[in-house]
Amino acid sequence: MKKKDAFWAEGSFAQSMGPNDAKKMRTFHMKHDEEMNFSCKKCKNKISVHNNDWHDGMCDDCFNRTHFPEDQDAYEKRRKKQTKNN
Ligand SMILES: [Zn+2]
Repeated sequence: MKKKDAFWAEGSFAQSMGPNDAKKMRTFHMKHDEEMNFSCKKCKNKISVHNNDWHDGMCDDCFNRTHFPEDQDAYEKRRKKQTKNN
C-alpha cells in the first residue's frame, strides 16, 4: 500500500478527526465544483464547500502552491516545456 493510500484509508483517517470534524464529512465526498459558495482566501477565486472545508479555504492552485510547492514547481516546469514545444 502506498503512503497516500494509507492516509486516505477510511479507518485511519476517521480516527485522526475530532468530533468537530464530523459535520465536515458531509462535504468530504463532494466534488470540487459543488456549492461554489466560498472564495479562496488567497486569490479570491470561487471555490466549493469541499475546498473550503478540506483545502484550507483555498482553491486547488493556491492549496497546491502552499502545501506541495515542489509538486507545483514540477508542474509549472512541465507546462513551460510543453508550451515551448508547441
Ligand atoms: Zn486561490
